[in-house]
Amino acid sequence: MIKAYEFAQVMIKVSQLLKIYKTNDPTTNKAQKNIILDEIRTIFIVNDIDASSQIEKFDDIRLSKQRAASIISELKQFVEPFEMPSIKQVEKLFKKVKKLKTPPSDQLDLQMMSYLGWNDPAANRKYMIYKDQSDTFKGMYGELSPTKVKGFCSICQNESDVALFLNKTKSNSDGTYTKKGDYICYDSNVCNQHLDDIEKLYQFVNKVQ
Ligand SMILES: [Zn+2]
Repeated sequence: MIKAYEFAQVMIKVSQLLKIYKTNDPTTNKAQKNIILDEIRTIFIVNDIDASSQIEKFDDIRLSKQRAASIISELKQFVEPFEMPSIKQVEKLFKKVKKLKTPPSDQLDLQMMSYLGWNDPAANRKYMIYKDQSDTFKGMYGELSPTKVKGFCSICQNESDVALFLNKTKSNSDGTYTKKGDYICYDSNVCNQHLDDIEKLYQFVNKVQ
């Protein structure tokens, strides 16, 4: 199986391909197209997956957005879905928050998720659950500004509708709290679609903790 962030790489490369097909220089197009198709193939090959029959369908100058989306959904079968934490695990991750519920998994696109993030607009909060480098669930929550602005997300590093996320951290020396944060995608589903490297998520977590 490939990881959700690798699948995000595939999606990014397919949109690059669609852009190339629209431009009018056939020679340059062909060279660029071959590079991108190779990059897509590599993502699957390094994970021992034969997705060649699906990937070949991208090799088509008349490829439409809809057709590309349907090939992408065929490729979803090769993606490892995000493992949802149990109710007990969620309780353990957020001991201070009572009766916290994650969004129901049937409303989530688990193959498109490197992390689970959801908002509680009434409390101006965002909750995040992810697995760290040793495959252990970690949780974090913080204030999320209700005001969205156009800007770059500190997690996926894409331009998007972002909002200021602030995490309360205890400073070691005197026990007082400080707030650390940055602008991140307001909608974590959008963020996950652009998150092409899990290290970007870990870097963000380190930065705000
Ligand atoms: Zn983002």
